[in-house]
Amino acid sequence: MESTKETTPGTPREHVRCLILGSGPAGYTAAVYASRAGLNPVLYAGIQPGGQLTATTEVENFPGYPQGVQGASLMEDLRKQAERFGADLRSGMATRADLSFPPYRISIDSGQEIEAETLIIATGATARYLGLADERKYAGLGVSACATCDGFFYRGRTVAVVGGGDTACEEALYLSSLARKVYLIVRKDYLRASRVMRERVMQTPNIRLLFEHNAVGLYGEKGVEGVHLLYRQGEADEQRVSLAIDGFFLAIGHTPNSDLFKAWLDTDARGYIQTLGGRPLTRLPGVFAAGDVADPHYRQAVTAAASGCMAAMEADRYLLTK
Ligand code: NDP
Repeated sequence: MESTKETTPGTPREHVRCLILGSGPAGYTAAVYASRAGLNPVLYAGIQPGGQLTATTEVENFPGYPQGVQGASLMEDLRKQAERFGADLRSGMATRADLSFPPYRISIDSGQEIEAETLIIATGATARYLGLADERKYAGLGVSACATCDGFFYRGRTVAVVGGGDTACEEALYLSSLARKVYLIVRKDYLRASRVMRERVMQTPNIRLLFEHNAVGLYGEKGVEGVHLLYRQGEADEQRVSLAIDGFFLAIGHTPNSDLFKAWLDTDARGYIQTLGGRPLTRLPGVFAAGDVADPHYRQAVTAAASGCMAAMEADRYLLTK
């Protein structure tokens, strides 16, 4: 059955066999597989078309690219691949979900109402902030959660990156090629990043690691001019330190974009959609979750792509047996 448009008076409702929400590696891979299976998928790209990889630089660990590939270019290739097989790729994001019974009803910010026989949730995750009032105060005035988006403005300046994982190391390394000096502010006394990233950071002369430091505030007249830190916060030898910086970058992990579905699906304490038996199945028939929105463990482009493939195959099987 093809997608059909129901033109009832009032809100137009479109019936689709397979609705995919999200346009990261999970969403586009699901679109490739669902198109090839003849499910005529409709994909809404969401707030950040192409997902998190469009905001990164080089991706060195996606199989098939021996020389590495730019994140944005990888996502453009995935989009074209989905398009080649006829996936209906649209801009817009879901604003409401009613998963009380199939077909599932999703409202899109354009006003479109979709009625979907199967739903693949691939809405990804969003960068986290520390929760300091100053992060809001200086938003767009020196605070950023994306070095590749905003690093350009800090050429020859001094910046700080908060975090100790792979993202923080990657952001610090990226900034080190632009900025004069990069402080990497790590709350523990070690980096949790992978060995290769740790080594690269430690071998970069203009990155200074500040272990056991927590950022507690920012200061500056019109924009960020410095950060207040606590060294060994809560310990007997706690010290307050202030560092002059021009830019403050957050790289402390992500929050899954699952809010819309929490009333209908099981999520863990951090909001990740819980799937069943190592497969992208949720507790609702015909609803699947793929990629970072359901993955607190791996969160890699390649694992997201793989789960998108699995979700589309499960959607196909579900429709065949329904
Ligand atoms: P992670 O969850 O791995 O790391 C988050 C970091 O932020 C940790 O060091 C954590 O500290 C710190 N942090 C969290 N909350 C706070 C806070 N309130 N104050 C100070 N520090 C805080 O997230 P990433 O985004 O780095 O990575 C996510 C996944 O993506 C990982 O699996 C990673 O390997 C992968 N990745 C891989 C890349 C690659 O291979 N090229 C690039 C980027 C990401 P603590 O250690 O104390 O918990």
